[in-house]
Parts: sequence; structure tokens; C-alpha cells
Amino acid sequence: MAERGEDKRLFLGLLLVTGACLGGAGLAVWWVPRVSSRVDSWLPALVGGVIGALGLLVLAGIGILLFAILFERDLPGTRRLRGVLVRGFFPPMVAVARLFGIAKERVERSYIAINNQLVLRSRWKAPPERVLILLPHCLQVNTCEVRITGDVHNCRGCGQCAIAGLLETGERYGVNVSIATGGTLARKIIVEQRPQLILAVACERDLTSGIQDAHPLPVYGILNERPEGPCFNTRVDLGKVQRALERFVVAPAPERARATL
Ligand code: SF4
Repeated sequence: MAERGEDKRLFLGLLLVTGACLGGAGLAVWWVPRVSSRVDSWLPALVGGVIGALGLLVLAGIGILLFAILFERDLPGTRRLRGVLVRGFFPPMVAVARLFGIAKERVERSYIAINNQLVLRSRWKAPPERVLILLPHCLQVNTCEVRITGDVHNCRGCGQCAIAGLLETGERYGVNVSIATGGTLARKIIVEQRPQLILAVACERDLTSGIQDAHPLPVYGILNERPEGPCFNTRVDLGKVQRALERFVVAPAPERARATL
């Protein structure tokens, strides 16, 4: 919980500082033509009008995001807009974070944590067949010769990597499981399977871009573990996946119901 507070404070702080920086830059752009004696008299008014309108839009955007972060829910009618706003503000926020020596990965983690809180607070639920577990290929141990990218069910369940356990969990809850080797394939899988909710396992970078790409489709992100470095023999806490499924899957699938009898 303390971690969540820290994530929220970091994202909130960066959002406010980024807003102030954008405001300052806008003011400078507006002010320079005014003090220049060479420009026509209509130019400052025109630039001022454009900057003023943009400034109001930025302020409104920051207000919408602040509300979502502070109250862990969206202002009425702004859920779709939130994804666009985060996508717009994220690059300058990362640049501001860099100025303060904050790693991009930390900003991404704070965004994923806030996104997860919003998904949890929205009380999203979906029937098992409309829930999709989306996994990165790097969970497969590199010595495995089975090709699972086209069909994850090719896995022989030897248990040397997390794939076997994830497939078993997916089957128990009756949800679909797929492997995405990149954003393009992930989008294709989403179009084909038409999930109502995605439970995605990935690194900070891929989860951040995936959550933004899929918006307004709710994505609950679970970070993978990388004891051998990025993109190589990664792991995932199966307990986190199971707990998320307990929260999001509407009704027990027959298999699961039988298992709990
Ligand atoms: S569980 Fe075994 S068969 Fe399945 S992907 Fe991992 S190593 Fe390959």
C-alpha cells in the first residue's frame, strides 16, 4: 500500500511539474513575439490566442488526470479521453523525470500501478471467455524447442518455465491465454479474440505501451521478473495472476467449480 502511495505521489508530482514546464514554455513562446520590434502587430495577438487556447486544453487535461489519480476513478465521460491524455503527457513527463534523475522505468511502474488501481476500482468483471491472459514470449525458457508463439497450447507442460502453470491456471478459470511477441501481434490477438478485459504480463516498457494502445479496453498489468536480465528466461508470480483472475472473472468456469467442490 505504501508502494502505491509512492507511485501515486511520483506520477502526481511529475504531472504537476510537467504542466508547469509546458505552461512556462507556452508563456515564453507568447512573450517573445511581443517584445520583438520586427514582427507585425497582429502576430502577438494571434500567437497569444493560440497559446491561450492550448494552455486551457493542457490545464483541462491535467485536471482530468489529477482527478483520476487522486480519486481512483474517472470524471464522468472522460474514461476514453484518459488514454489519449496519458499518451500525450507521458513523453514530456519522462523528460522531466530525467531532469530530476528519475529513471524512465520508475515512471512507467508508477503509471502501471495507477492504471491497475483504476481498473480495480472500476470493478471490471467479465465472463471467462472474454478475459484474455496476454504473455510475453520471454517467459518461455530459452532451451525449450517447442514453438509456442503461434499456439501457446503447443506447450508440453514440462514445467521448466512459467508457461505450463499459466496454461493450467487459464484452463482452470476458463480464460484464453495467448503469447504476443510484440505490439502488432498483441493488437491482432485482441481484434481476433475480442476480450472485455486483459490481464497482461510484461516488462515496464511493454506494459505501459500496451495499456495505452488497448485503452479504453481495461488492461491489468503484472510485471514479469527478470533474474537473468531483460527479455531472457523471465518469470512471473503465478499467485498474482490467480488473484487477479479471482477479481475479474465473473463466474467460475465448470472446471474450476468442480475443482472447488
Ligand atoms: S513448460 Fe516446458 S514445454 Fe512448455 S514452454 Fe516451458 S519449457 Fe517449453
